[in-house]
Amino acid sequence: MNVVTRFAPSPTGHLHIGGARTAIFCWLLARHFNGQFHLRIEDTDLLRSKQEYTDSILASMRWLGLSWDGELTYQTQRMDLYRQYVNRLLESGQAYWCTCTTEEVDAMREQAKAMGLKPRYNGHCRELHHGPAEGACVRLKCPAEGKIVFDDMVKGRISVDVSELDDMVIQRADGTPTYNMAVVVDDYEMGITHVIRGDDHVSNTPRQILIYRALGLKEPVFGHVPMILGSDGAKLSKRHGARAASEYEKDGLLPQALVNYLVRLGWSHGDQEIFSLEELVELFDGTHLNPSAARFDTNKLQWLNAHYMRALPVAELARLVRPFALEAGYGELSEARLEGLCALFRDRAKTLVELAAAFKPMLTPAAELPYDEKVVAKQIRPETKERLERLRAVLAASPSFEAAHLEQLFNSFVADSGLTFKEIAPALRTALVGFMGGSHLHDIMAFLGREETLARIDRTLTF
Ligand code: GLU
Repeated sequence: MNVVTRFAPSPTGHLHIGGARTAIFCWLLARHFNGQFHLRIEDTDLLRSKQEYTDSILASMRWLGLSWDGELTYQTQRMDLYRQYVNRLLESGQAYWCTCTTEEVDAMREQAKAMGLKPRYNGHCRELHHGPAEGACVRLKCPAEGKIVFDDMVKGRISVDVSELDDMVIQRADGTPTYNMAVVVDDYEMGITHVIRGDDHVSNTPRQILIYRALGLKEPVFGHVPMILGSDGAKLSKRHGARAASEYEKDGLLPQALVNYLVRLGWSHGDQEIFSLEELVELFDGTHLNPSAARFDTNKLQWLNAHYMRALPVAELARLVRPFALEAGYGELSEARLEGLCALFRDRAKTLVELAAAFKPMLTPAAELPYDEKVVAKQIRPETKERLERLRAVLAASPSFEAAHLEQLFNSFVADSGLTFKEIAPALRTALVGFMGGSHLHDIMAFLGREETLARIDRTLTF
């Protein structure tokens, strides 16, 4: 099957997660069918469009791994093209110049409402055969009767009576095309076979189909994905974690986690939750898209992120966490140290930010390590101090400070002293990291090295 999709963001803001999900669906469909995926910047709103948003959208697309084919398309560079198509419609008599003022059109809409009809333009200029004039727009002649029917990939069959539509503006008085006109021209010119977009556009689709028909063009397949709701079922807002994709990056989320999460949030394959990108490409054929709105769940996203962090090779995780470690103020760390830290904490962190934060006690010298007073009061008592002191001597004399060796050494120490782990491990943990957290004790000591391990025990013994 020949599949050409596109993602068509307006650069009036950053790429938010709803848009990101649409882009992922379009990308997956194209990749599944070995087709093409295009990116088009819909920048005709000159007042609200900004280059910085285009740059940010492109950066997010790259971060998510959504490569596009061919050149980027900017609508502002295609104004002549849109005019040619409008002229075609004018020449064939399917469109006409309209000189009605905004006030006049408003009055017509009020009049329709007063008669219990949908607010609409009454076709005043339809047969007046105006030519181009200052302040004149171009309208498409809407058929007098009939239905527009299309089979939506997500919502199933949609049928709209043309009586609900009116002669829509396709070219504004300033000569620019309206959204519906530009989109039809672009989707046709770019050979788009499948238009997947947010369902805020579903009411535009019958209008776009009218334009296709007036131009004698075959319309693409449409799919309108429902919006993403907050965890409470309300429209997703900042409060729910609805932010730009770039903010998730700053929060230390991995793109593969966000992609997996967003795809699952509107599509399913049985009850499988975790999908590699290859698997998604293999499975995503545009079916099984969920017609009802899904709720955004930050916990699930973080759960997936933790999964992907564990699945990464340590070296790769270290590379990814480096900027976060720098940001946390640890200075430059060698690759080996960073990998050591990742190995220690990767199973305990849900994000790269959390992972970097977990490094802190390991990188703070004994003299400056903050100790949790409550934990110290509970764990560091005369009898535990005595045990720590004996353990210190064993550690000081150990021929090796390798984790495996330390593990054995600690186990023998506990057994030989006739202790239980509970009688020494929490005290040692307190001495080493200052609170009840962290990784395996032998791993922590191996990472800290002999000198720092002993210094921390020594400091605790002064409490
Ligand atoms: N530029 C539109 C938007 O950002 C997308 C329109 C479309 O996909 O047809 O909402």
